[in-house]
Amino acid sequence: MLHASECSISLAMRILLPALAAELADDPRISQTPLVDKGFAAVRRIANGLYATISDFSKGSTTVCNGGFLIGKDAALLIEGFTTPSGAAFQMDALRMVSQVPVKAALDTHYHFDHSMGNSFYGVNNIPLCAHATAAKRIVESYSPMQGADKEAVRAPLEKTVKEAKSDAERAHAQSDLNAATIVFQVVSTSVLSLPNHPLDPAKLPMSVDLGGLTAVLESHPRHSGTDVIARVPEQNVVYTGDLLFSGWYPVCLDEKATLSGWRATLKKFASFDKDTLFVPGHGQLCGQEGIASIREMFDDIAGQAEKMYKAGVPAEEAQHRYVVPDKLRTSPYLPGASPSVRPSPSCIPNGKRPSPNTSPRGRGLENRGG
Ligand SMILES: [Zn+2]
Ligand SMILES: [Zn+2]
Repeated sequence: MLHASECSISLAMRILLPALAAELADDPRISQTPLVDKGFAAVRRIANGLYATISDFSKGSTTVCNGGFLIGKDAALLIEGFTTPSGAAFQMDALRMVSQVPVKAALDTHYHFDHSMGNSFYGVNNIPLCAHATAAKRIVESYSPMQGADKEAVRAPLEKTVKEAKSDAERAHAQSDLNAATIVFQVVSTSVLSLPNHPLDPAKLPMSVDLGGLTAVLESHPRHSGTDVIARVPEQNVVYTGDLLFSGWYPVCLDEKATLSGWRATLKKFASFDKDTLFVPGHGQLCGQEGIASIREMFDDIAGQAEKMYKAGVPAEEAQHRYVVPDKLRTSPYLPGASPSVRPSPSCIPNGKRPSPNTSPRGRGLENRGG
């Protein structure tokens, strides 16, 4: 079974990330010069004591997702376990270039492999690792079966789907799933799984983390993966969103625990944050409220098309292949280089029958197909 993020990897590999968004070029909070830039990721200061790690997979898969760190007078907080322990080590080295305060904890914003396969770095370094209370379980359930599995056995059912596709659209989608699954398998089967050891009970969030003159607030908004936790610094209007925000891309991951309505509600909430809020997305470039407006527009379109197909009684499987990216979004700078053919999750369609907006998406997510 495919899990979220798989699709994000295949999509991301085809997309060249734009430079720092023009809207943010003049933001005095953001350092125009990175603290360090290794190609696969660069770290820059984005506010007082706040840093963002922005990945670029076209130059390597050491980190894949974005992250960052927060430095107070007394302690620091690291964001994300990344795709490899080397990725987590890279970020730690960047932190040590600017501060020697003890690390209070690290946070996996959610369980997906691109954010958690580097967790063992934190184990080796005795850094407490926080995540949503169910993240550890989801890592075990999703990824331990892949370890020791036969690659061809994993690929076989997906290859069969490609062969049996009834149309070019179906075939391209199936091939995209196969490519994504192969990448996930390659990463997971060569990783040593490490689990967060400080579960965050969502019922007890939000929770303030005092770093000394800098307070981070951890909040639960589970609608990308069922395990999503964001880190906010309200005093400086900065939010580390994890994959609840894909900046500049189609929101490619819809986990089985994600809901379209829940995710849209979270984005609406982000839109209600201060107008000068700076968002560090799970993937893509830093953005302000314009980035939230853009992804909301995409979600509105998906929901609108799903509703139309639902009313027309289009079957679920067909509905996902019929989805059309509107011209306006195709040319959007927020869809850089993406194929004009992207599809929504079959999950717009409950029980595999008919599409309905605002219901639980299941299984595969939006994917770029072709090319
Ligand atoms: Zn991700
Ligand atoms: Zn994710």
